[in-house]
Amino acid sequence: MQAVKSKKTAPERRLRAFLVGSGFRGWRLNCREIQGNPDIAFPEQKIVIFVDGCFWHGCPICNRPLPVSNHEYWEAKIRRNIERDKAHTQLLEQNHWRVIRLWEHQLKKKVWSESAAFLKQELRRLLNS
Ligand SMILES: [Zn+2]
Repeated sequence: MQAVKSKKTAPERRLRAFLVGSGFRGWRLNCREIQGNPDIAFPEQKIVIFVDGCFWHGCPICNRPLPVSNHEYWEAKIRRNIERDKAHTQLLEQNHWRVIRLWEHQLKKKVWSESAAFLKQELRRLLNS
């Protein structure tokens, strides 16, 4: 149980450690009051970061196979998630939020340094604009 739990939050911990380590300030975790419940938000600067699970949000790069049973159910469910993600992004942008979306696979250890470099650059750009 414990092992599953910590495995699940490893990417979150990586992201949080990155934000602290890079000296970013004014961010908060899991903001339920913001549209779409982003993983990270900078409320004052109106920047949100979503980390989308590759299976649940239909990552085109990982292209995870759907379960064989109830194939149509899963297909419809994931399609709805993708549409919901788009709708949340659109609504946020209409309300002048800047939205960064990361895939879960981008937070994996072996590609993290590349993702972190991108994220740092992107955040600095948005925070300064
Ligand atoms: Zn992926």
